[in-house]
Amino acid sequence: MRLSQMLFVTLREDPAEAEIPSHKLLLRAGYIRRISSGVYAYLPLMWRVLQKVSQIVREEMNATGAQECLLPQLQPSDLWQESGRWETYTKAEGIMFALIDRQDREMGLGPTHEEVITAVARDSIRSYRQLPLHLYQIQTKFRDEIRPRFGLMRGREFIMKDGYSFHTDEESLKQTYADMDTAYRNIIRRCGLAFQAVEADSGAIGGSGSQEFMVLADAGEDEVLYTEDGSYAANVEKATSLPPDAEPSPFESYEKRETPDTATIASLCDYLDCSPTQIVKNVLYQAVYDNGTNVLVLVSIRGDRDVNEVKLQNELTRRAKDYDATALLALTVPDENAQQKWAAKPLPLGYIAPNLADNFITKQKDVAPKFLRLADTTVENLKNFVTGANETGFHVVGANWGESFKLPSVIDLDKSMVGDRSAKNPEQVLQTARGIEVGHIFQLGTKYSIAMGATFTDENGKAQPLVMGCYGIGVSRLAQAAVEQSYDKDGIIWPVAIAPYHAVVTVPNINTKEQMAVAEKLYAELNAAGVETLLDDRKERAGVKFKDADLIGIPYRIVTGRSISEGKVEVVKRSTHESQEISIEDVVPTIKQWIDEALSD
Ligand code: ATP
Ligand code: MG
Repeated sequence: MRLSQMLFVTLREDPAEAEIPSHKLLLRAGYIRRISSGVYAYLPLMWRVLQKVSQIVREEMNATGAQECLLPQLQPSDLWQESGRWETYTKAEGIMFALIDRQDREMGLGPTHEEVITAVARDSIRSYRQLPLHLYQIQTKFRDEIRPRFGLMRGREFIMKDGYSFHTDEESLKQTYADMDTAYRNIIRRCGLAFQAVEADSGAIGGSGSQEFMVLADAGEDEVLYTEDGSYAANVEKATSLPPDAEPSPFESYEKRETPDTATIASLCDYLDCSPTQIVKNVLYQAVYDNGTNVLVLVSIRGDRDVNEVKLQNELTRRAKDYDATALLALTVPDENAQQKWAAKPLPLGYIAPNLADNFITKQKDVAPKFLRLADTTVENLKNFVTGANETGFHVVGANWGESFKLPSVIDLDKSMVGDRSAKNPEQVLQTARGIEVGHIFQLGTKYSIAMGATFTDENGKAQPLVMGCYGIGVSRLAQAAVEQSYDKDGIIWPVAIAPYHAVVTVPNINTKEQMAVAEKLYAELNAAGVETLLDDRKERAGVKFKDADLIGIPYRIVTGRSISEGKVEVVKRSTHESQEISIEDVVPTIKQWIDEALSD
């Protein structure tokens, strides 16, 4: 392609709308243009990158025996009602764009495709002989994200590869899940990115095991906790660990103490001269279920620890049926306004005990009359601890479960932190890093097939629910993550495998006949040899052309400058700026060799 004929507009200044390097560079180098919040036009250079990523995804997926298809983006609400996710996706998470068609039917724009694929499977899979089966697609997804940002990283319209597998049993599912683990590692490695696979929370998609693939970069929105020896890595949402041991308590007998102005853990520790590990703090949450029921939740956790709200949401979702509900819509720490709606009298905030009386809750429709009391594992074995006295300005010391307070049901609600010991290998201490989630694979099990009645007939002629897996990789997010991992002060440094072009032939002065002639010849020969090459034949100064070539990040540059009189051209590697003069005949074999070497790394 000739630059003189391309839509080629680069910006000298960083656009104000962009915060992180990859977003700035993609805008400046003319790869993308913002159309509205989280919605971007992929310009020709970007589209080539996206197609290259897609092609790598396709090759690795096809190699596992998965088949490509294309599912509708416009999805009827009925299917989502069947799976029970319509309310969660349109109201709770609010992530689905929903609309009403001219016949008054509700539709949604696909944020993901479990419902559609399960409907297809229900219609087409009859017998165990058709299994296992794995279908995937590469397509635009729509999600009305709360905080669209960072360009293609978190868009409201973005490209994803999503695949869904169907099995007779868990064992077959585990086999495909393992194949996908390998395929995803191959894809990300082939795209030229460094990454880390981590244990993950399954979120609203549901199911049992799941794993995410994180590209490590400071701009990442996720926190990864990992051990140096590689034995453990998890998203902080999912992580478990061994918190530091509690210090023995100095309080030997149970006693109520006046503790003025000690509503925070730090001030209480100061006042009582104790360690936060000897305190049971009681954190109040308000949960709202899809049937409108509000539940007030009191979580008892050790003073030095925080509640992992993802773990708490999962527990509350599991308990939905206790409140005749099916889904959790919201979980918040109730502010004063919210408290006024249900609190019968002012709450002793900062001084709450695990047994805060239920009569703090006004009896009314839509509010469960009792606190749901939960205890984190960190408090289970505390002895002679400190906690609130349910009275502002007072705490109790020397308290014990079973004597002073009834121990609520104990579950893991602890948020793991950097510095904790690994539960797998206590010798190892957890480290922290930021990650960009580019892929996520799930073992779904029978959640969707049971809800939607998708069954197959087993060897004994009995109907069984299909066992399912699902696997997503963010094609557009991955492409931008590559830039976030690979750039310098001059611009983008594309990994060769996904660069929009391999090489650019730069003509310093197009008015010099010899320069143009050599450039045209090399341009033709390189393309004929399969080296995807640009020709910078614009009427611009040489300096501008060099700057632009660096900015757009083409791996190899060939300059037809003065040395052509000696039968030579300059070749420059973008990644290192390393430059050398080689004879014109050597250009094609040299560049081809560099590409082959880069692709086999
Ligand atoms: P996140 O936690 O970042 O919102 P997710 O858990 O919602 O991601 P999945 O539903 O598992 O993501 O989707 C599969 C993949 O699609 C993700 O791993 C990510 O690469 C990509 N993806 C998800 N949401 C977006 C988005 N808003 N913009 C771009 N890519 C996205
Ligand atoms: Mg999301």
